[in-house]
Amino acid sequence: RIDAVDGDATSGVHAFLHVAHEDALAAARAVDEARAAGRELATLAGVPVAVKDVVATRGMPTTVGSRILQGWVPPYDATLVARLREAGTPLLGKTNMDEFAMGSSTEHSAYGPTRNPWDPERIPGGSGGGSAAAVAAFQAPLAVGTDTGGSIRQPAAVTGSVGVKPTYGGVSRYGLVALASSLDQAGPCARSVLDAALLHEVMGGHDPRDSTSLPGGPPPVVAAARQGASGDLAGVRVGLVRELDGEGYQPGVRARFAEAVDHLRAAGAEVVEVSAPHFRYALVAYYLILPSEASSNLAKFDAMRFGLRVGDADPAATAEKVMAATREAGFGDEVKRRIILGTYALSAGYYDAYYGSAQKVRTLVQRDFDACFAQADVLVSPTAPTTAFRFGDKLDDPMAMYLNDVATIPANLAGVPGMSLPTGLADEDGLPAGIQLLAPVAEDARLYRVGAALE
Ligand code: GLN
Repeated sequence: RIDAVDGDATSGVHAFLHVAHEDALAAARAVDEARAAGRELATLAGVPVAVKDVVATRGMPTTVGSRILQGWVPPYDATLVARLREAGTPLLGKTNMDEFAMGSSTEHSAYGPTRNPWDPERIPGGSGGGSAAAVAAFQAPLAVGTDTGGSIRQPAAVTGSVGVKPTYGGVSRYGLVALASSLDQAGPCARSVLDAALLHEVMGGHDPRDSTSLPGGPPPVVAAARQGASGDLAGVRVGLVRELDGEGYQPGVRARFAEAVDHLRAAGAEVVEVSAPHFRYALVAYYLILPSEASSNLAKFDAMRFGLRVGDADPAATAEKVMAATREAGFGDEVKRRIILGTYALSAGYYDAYYGSAQKVRTLVQRDFDACFAQADVLVSPTAPTTAFRFGDKLDDPMAMYLNDVATIPANLAGVPGMSLPTGLADEDGLPAGIQLLAPVAEDARLYRVGAALE
């Protein structure tokens, strides 16, 4: 299927940056042999998974969608990859993404954008557009994404898939190329809530190699998805977040969202309106905190340790010149923009005004969540304000691109889990829209129960 539809940078879906034919076939054969030998198999044994190219895979290139890591092959597996291999899931390859996971369209990939399987003129969302498109185009039944500000949920919404950002610390970050360490979280992308739950449980649970990893095993999301499939939500309180709907949201997205809320009511849920007044500042706080952390995390791409090295053949080369030339050639415009923003926000004299204020807003957003969850078990909103937009529509206007994240960002700032699932097609363009469900920290199972009831 990948060979048939994926194409390359100029045509086809272009969800993959690397297809691991041999690695995947070897893993599949090992499962066959284990089955023939009568050994017990894990639930997902033999079910192939595509992995976003921000996750380190031993022996498989890992570029993060950037020229600066072109040709880099990690010597180790991320914890989540090691767990997938152990479960016998063949790894199909690495999926395309915005460079360093910065973006909402995959147009910032150094290797050309991924095309939305619903319409090749449109974006598949971002940064994890490759993972979502691979699932939507039936190139992979399951995919792994990462979500720092919406990069699993928004691509799921605009491709008609299910995407989950687990509670912060729920899936190990060991072996993920860090964007913003206090926000990054890996999670599943799939075609159904139960599929996502199965992948979530394999990847999740405590990892001593990640100091922010939560204790204990993964939350019981598979059981919750099975419970929800009965369609009975009696006793569940659903909060409509007033600030995450209305102005700026496409009419067709709102119409499908309203229908989904009607379905929740019909399933027996009690729907209440809740208010989160500080969510309107979440986007600006995020776009200070994220660049600050990213500028620090990206300092390690210094031409000495990994990947690209430019200008070292010049007899007049110095370490500093090589670093500057490598970063100049290796990073794209959006990455440079955020490094400049982040170093500025962290600089002496501005630190309190920008980074310090943003951290205070983060606390206020967390308190808003606490207040909302005192009134409701899960919160709901449209996942993204629009359906998939056309290539180029927002590329030259970073603010317009950033505004696409308005509904997904609060969850990352507070560490709470979120899920996007399809609500149907918007009337004006016939493209998929999504509903976002949010739950309190460590209550990921609620998302799966309510999500499965909506399916
Ligand atoms: N659109 C967000 C950003 O550009 C998404 C980041 C992410 O989740 N990786 O920051």
